Amino acid sequence: MGDTVPFLDLKSTYTELKDEIDEAIQRVMDSGYYLLGQELKSFENEYSEYTGAKHCIGVGNGLDALHLSLRALGVKAGDEVIVPSNTYIATWLAVSIVGAVVVPVEPDERTYNIDPARIEAAITERTRVILPVHLYGQSADMGPILGLAEKHGLRVLEDAAQAHGAKYKGNRVGALGDVTAWSFYPTKNLGAFGDAGAVTTDNDELADEIRLLRNYGSRVKYNNEIKGYNSRMEEIHAAMLRIKLKYLDTWNSQREVLANLYLEELQETGIVLPYIEEWAESAWHLFVIRCKKRDALQQHLKASGIGTLIHYPIPPHLSDAYKDMGAGEGSFPISEAIHREVLSIPLSPHLTSGQCQMVVSAIRSFDARRIT
Ligand SMILES: *Cc1c(COP(=O)(O)O)cnc(C)c1O
Repeated sequence: MGDTVPFLDLKSTYTELKDEIDEAIQRVMDSGYYLLGQELKSFENEYSEYTGAKHCIGVGNGLDALHLSLRALGVKAGDEVIVPSNTYIATWLAVSIVGAVVVPVEPDERTYNIDPARIEAAITERTRVILPVHLYGQSADMGPILGLAEKHGLRVLEDAAQAHGAKYKGNRVGALGDVTAWSFYPTKNLGAFGDAGAVTTDNDELADEIRLLRNYGSRVKYNNEIKGYNSRMEEIHAAMLRIKLKYLDTWNSQREVLANLYLEELQETGIVLPYIEEWAESAWHLFVIRCKKRDALQQHLKASGIGTLIHYPIPPHLSDAYKDMGAGEGSFPISEAIHREVLSIPLSPHLTSGQCQMVVSAIRSFDARRIT
């Protein structure tokens, strides 16, 4: 038996849009073009228009979008990149892939996003890029970040894998900094039925470089200008994303309605609720609550048939992959506490308000004294 309120039911999007999706799959199969064809071109046009960026380049996945962006920005071995200490490990891995050094900066306790006030102290003469993440769907505080980048001659790469449709001061995320990396992993607000990613930018040279990098460094077949990769968004995924893009704003509004229901109904529970800055419009990728008795709360919700997940259980610096950094327990205490205490409760466009009410009741029935 599954949960009464599953954390996420990925198949529900297919069920909702089955006819449109089946028709598009047939169209791609019949076209005889499976890579770098018309579907991708159309998706790139539609997504650059959506984000307000001049260019969109479809790539294989979000990690490639990040690492190809760093390559295009000229980041090399020994360079330093400022990253959030509190993020999904992919943000860091992209930096490691190009041989650069991650310099983690602690988050703002309320938003969980990188704290601009802590960035300047982390800048050295080796710093090349600031890489903020728009975590859980809310834009990082880009104004001060862009100001610091300008002051110190740095570039800004944004990890927008969780922020499709999010706004910073009225502008959609996608062309705020130099270059923005997107993931269309199936669980994201805009998700493919497999791996896919994209880069958006206003910068002509960067766009050109990323187009080369994703396709063996080649513009004309068998003419290889640079040592590139193979990371091309497939036609089938582009066709799926074109359909889903039309529903993104509606789905994000549905997320917002349910998020507001949670914010209202969970007020007196002693649980720490998401904090949204007054200049931000969150894409509500996740609804993340925080509580010292997180594991007990998760058990309690599970027993009530409510699916939850933890984003994320282990901060990157404490993962085995980054043991070589030598940053042990206590190195990034704000992130460590966040990782111990956060819990994501169900939030998706296909959830009903009735289901959200069940989540609310289950949380309220968790002994309040145990929460704090
Ligand atoms: C999902 C995600 C990625 C990686 O995207 P993939 O498509 O899975 O490679 C990178 N950064 C963040 C913050 C993510 O949530």
